[in-house]
Amino acid sequence: MSDRIDFEIACPNNHDQTVTFSGEEFESALKSGALMFHCTACDRVWPPTREEIAGFRKQFPKKPASSALAEPSDGLSGRVTKS
Ligand SMILES: [Zn+2]
Repeated sequence: MSDRIDFEIACPNNHDQTVTFSGEEFESALKSGALMFHCTACDRVWPPTREEIAGFRKQFPKKPASSALAEPSDGLSGRVTKS
């Protein structure tokens, strides 16, 4: 079901690598702090940079944000005050 996307990245030793994530996998790995890349050429493990994270996010299809700072809704739900 999930749409996985290939991303091209370069390890700290400049080996080109391809990683594959769905948006959900990416976000959950990111949230748990477990998002690390592994280079198959030099066996290096490293975390993504902020730029990479931002670049990845742009490429995932947009989904309703459950974790992002939500924009205020138009006030149709939630509070009902009776006076
Ligand atoms: Zn490498």
